Amino acid sequence: MNIRENIERFTEELEKNGTRLCAVSKTKPVEDIKEAYEAGQRVFGENKAQEMAAKQEELPDDIQWHMIGHLQRNKVKYIAPFVSLIHSVDSERLLREVNKQGAKAERVIPCLLQVHIAEEETKFGLDREEVLALLKPETLQELPNVEIRGLMGMATNTDDEALVRKEFKSLKGLFDEIKENHSSEQVTMKELSMGMSGDYQIAMEEGSTLVRIGSAIFGARNYD
Ligand SMILES: *Cc1c(COP(=O)(O)O)cnc(C)c1O
Repeated sequence: MNIRENIERFTEELEKNGTRLCAVSKTKPVEDIKEAYEAGQRVFGENKAQEMAAKQEELPDDIQWHMIGHLQRNKVKYIAPFVSLIHSVDSERLLREVNKQGAKAERVIPCLLQVHIAEEETKFGLDREEVLALLKPETLQELPNVEIRGLMGMATNTDDEALVRKEFKSLKGLFDEIKENHSSEQVTMKELSMGMSGDYQIAMEEGSTLVRIGSAIFGARNYD
């Protein structure tokens, strides 16, 4: 894998579509992240809080760290002081903990609500009603240390392009609906995080603002 070339190639392709790259560096060593950094990449995605915190300490301060994986409440404290976006808020209890740790760190933490769009049972995420319930002003006014910056979703892992497209379309539909009807200072709806190595082109066509790409940049992972 030539990480530098991959970063350059993706950046160019995505820029044409107005989409940004979150380079998913989970399980990969800091040397790989440095190589991507030297190619100009600044946004990196990790799925384990302690791994992210350890890498953050070793790497340059202008990296923007994105939490993309399922986040346990007792791990939020490790990343709250520096994380630049949490893509994977999938419960009100987690959002409340992010708010609490944001208050401790004296900052507002940008979050995306993860929506369940895939057919698989195993993928985390909220359904439409749960998303709308979380966006109630009564709920959010108790949580001044979080900003709802948008939505994230993962499509079914399948070769069926039509199904993947339909799932991304449904997420974009919900995104537009929220943007139209529920925008506020705290609900800014600037990011729609969808698309991975296998389906980023479809995601881009369906309106993704941020794709999360790992293996197509850094090579296959030994474990997740
Ligand atoms: C690992 C992961 C990715 C990247 O997957 P690739 O197929 O390697 O691009 C994207 N999003 C989430 C939530 C992940 O956990």
